[in-house]
Amino acid sequence: MSQLDIPQQIFSELERIYAAMDAEYDRVASRIGLSCSACLDNCCRSYFRHHTYVEWAYLWHGLQQMGSSRLEVFRERAGSYMETLRSRLTENKPSRIMCPLNEDGWCAIYSHRMVICRLHGVPNQVRMPDGRVRNFPGCHLCQDLTRSMDRIPCLDRTPLYTELAALERRFLGERAKSLPKVDMTLAQMILEGPPKLE
Ligand code: SF4
Repeated sequence: MSQLDIPQQIFSELERIYAAMDAEYDRVASRIGLSCSACLDNCCRSYFRHHTYVEWAYLWHGLQQMGSSRLEVFRERAGSYMETLRSRLTENKPSRIMCPLNEDGWCAIYSHRMVICRLHGVPNQVRMPDGRVRNFPGCHLCQDLTRSMDRIPCLDRTPLYTELAALERRFLGERAKSLPKVDMTLAQMILEGPPKLE
């Protein structure tokens, strides 16, 4: 496995953005009265895809702090995840498969989890570069709670994504021009190892 050699300021900046996301999520969730402890589902079964090298690198920063036997278990689970995913997608079936990093309902890399793991659940919106605004109603529990609300609190992802995109540009620099776009499941990120940036 290749080692990551990434300036600490990059990860510190990502941690600051992640903390801002967590605070925004908590603010909106508390206004709605949304708590994951009341949920019988688990959003770690959602079909999430991830799009930045900086998050991929930070995920591996977390994984590399684990022992090799634990990592091996995650690799095996990631392999099974991708096998099941491919067959479900081929058969046009819903792809609700448990994330390979979820252990007994809990995230094994909670402090290093991805953006979408942090923001999923509450009503949110994002302004696209072309000016269109996309709205998401939140998870099923959140939709039940907000159904009778006149003014539904909403998390605006736009400034948070803008900061993340700026950090991604800073992280990649000139390499951004030659590297392929990231559009991967977390299982693929585990199987591929840390991102190859050269
Ligand atoms: S990374 Fe953690 S929080 Fe995100 S889907 Fe996997 S187990 Fe859940």
